Amino acid sequence: EVLINQIAAGEVVERPASVLKELLENSIDAGSQSIEVQLTQGGIKQLRISDDGCGIDKDQLALALERHATSKISSLEDLEAVGTMGFRGEALAAIASVARTRITSRARDASHAWRVSEREREPMPAALNGGTVVEVEDLYYNTPARRKFLKSDATEYGHCDDVFRRIALAKPEVGLQISHNGRVNMRLAAGDAERRTREILGDDFMAQARPLLAESGLLRLSGYVSLPAYARSNRDAQYFYVNGRFVRDKLIQHALREAYADILHGSRHPAFVLFLDLDPAGVDVNVHPAKTEVRFREGRAIHQFVFHAVTRTLATPVQ
Ligand code: ADP
Ligand code: MG
Repeated sequence: EVLINQIAAGEVVERPASVLKELLENSIDAGSQSIEVQLTQGGIKQLRISDDGCGIDKDQLALALERHATSKISSLEDLEAVGTMGFRGEALAAIASVARTRITSRARDASHAWRVSEREREPMPAALNGGTVVEVEDLYYNTPARRKFLKSDATEYGHCDDVFRRIALAKPEVGLQISHNGRVNMRLAAGDAERRTREILGDDFMAQARPLLAESGLLRLSGYVSLPAYARSNRDAQYFYVNGRFVRDKLIQHALREAYADILHGSRHPAFVLFLDLDPAGVDVNVHPAKTEVRFREGRAIHQFVFHAVTRTLATPVQ
């Protein structure tokens, strides 16, 4: 069982940033309004995330570190219509198999909190006002071969920062904070999409971006696309979401590239923050556990829709 979890962990837990992604998604799924992330040494030494979500009751907590313990899905039909970010019930088990892991949580109606760890899976009474605190320490302490693949603290922190930004952009209604080695690097108050986009991409982007909104049947695309003047030398400022989930998808990237083909040349890349929403039955998000790839049922139609929406927005004369 430990071995199976460690093998699964290889897919789910590549580096501190993948742990952070899973934990942030769990906090979001729990309905949190405020989430705080504290990292030490790139997240390798410690990754601590505390939220004010619904918490986990004692019985669930006893299972939370076991494989396939999910509270989010109870049938195969659910798998088609997943509204929550996580649904496989393997992230915490995988993390606990490769790092010292401790969860302290207090469900809304509980008189006090409970705690479990990778070593002590029987819940013990603990103190916490509400929500959940997950602490993950010494990533890969028991699998040195994997630990060798981790990069410098700075690089690992950079990946964590990417994950944090991706999630922060998609959840403007959630207050978020991230600190590294005791220093607060970003503090984002709950707000609307425009404010959050400005906080993450900056004033320069906003000054050179067009708001976009397109709807067609059950398809909806919204967000911001940069004008050619704001071209970048890399693709770091490209954020595309499908039903709230960050994706890097070939079909989508192609549609964007085509839309910019006549106005951006050479090795210049556009910046954008785009949210595509569609009927969950029209997209398979289950392609890979790391989940940045998706498969569309109507790929051609999606491509056309995105291409036209972006082209039209960029072609509209400045007011
Ligand atoms: P999944 O998210 O796929 O269900 P996880 O292993 O990530 O699986 O989490 C297992 C379960 O633990 C979740 O289904 C949820 O019930 C509970 N859980 C984990 N993190 C939190 C949290 N921050 N707040 C409330 N419940 C949580
Ligand atoms: Mg999860």
